[in-house]
Amino acid sequence: MSLSYDLHSHSSASDGCLSPTELVHYAQQQGVDVLALTDHDITSGISEAKQAADTLGLNVIAGVEISVIWRKQTLHILGLNIEPENVDLLAGLDKIRQARLWRAQEMGRRLDKAGFPGIYEAAKATANGENVTRTHFARVLIEQGHAKDMKQVFKRFIVQGKPGYVAGEWAEMAQALEWIKNAGGVSVIAHPARYKLSATKMRLMIDEFMQVGGQGI
Ligand SMILES: [Zn+2]
Repeated sequence: MSLSYDLHSHSSASDGCLSPTELVHYAQQQGVDVLALTDHDITSGISEAKQAADTLGLNVIAGVEISVIWRKQTLHILGLNIEPENVDLLAGLDKIRQARLWRAQEMGRRLDKAGFPGIYEAAKATANGENVTRTHFARVLIEQGHAKDMKQVFKRFIVQGKPGYVAGEWAEMAQALEWIKNAGGVSVIAHPARYKLSATKMRLMIDEFMQVGGQGI
């Protein structure tokens, strides 16, 4: 028998639209047997997802997606099969979330100045309190008619040189890998094609990732 895996998913605990329970139900409808919940910098959705999975016979893997800086470039590293309550990991994620909060407020201030007031407050209201991400900002800007879709909203507002761009202050790659390892997890580079690295830089990145204990891509 072959099993169907999805090892990268987000719930409303970070920037997904579905609650952990809804997400697990949706995954089952789509024929997924093993689902990793990998919310951005937070593990609070995992226990709910596992509970929902138990009643459906689906297997949920505890995961997280950590934003890291590698040579001024933001990369996303997945931690799979982690202990969600590991104190080292939780302390690290907490630091990143504080940086994320600062960035969100700063994005709001810059958008205010550029003539788009109240975007941070509106984004926060859609974010269930915890993590206000660029995706939340993007949804608000689209809703208010300032852009027609995700692609356009990022291009107009959120990339480098635009009013809503603020560089993230994330963890170092090696640091994030250590948190994942201490929590018993496997570290995996998420969506490598999205970083727009040259082939040379991509090889360098993967090399360094492996040197500090990275295991998958
Ligand atoms: Zn990602």
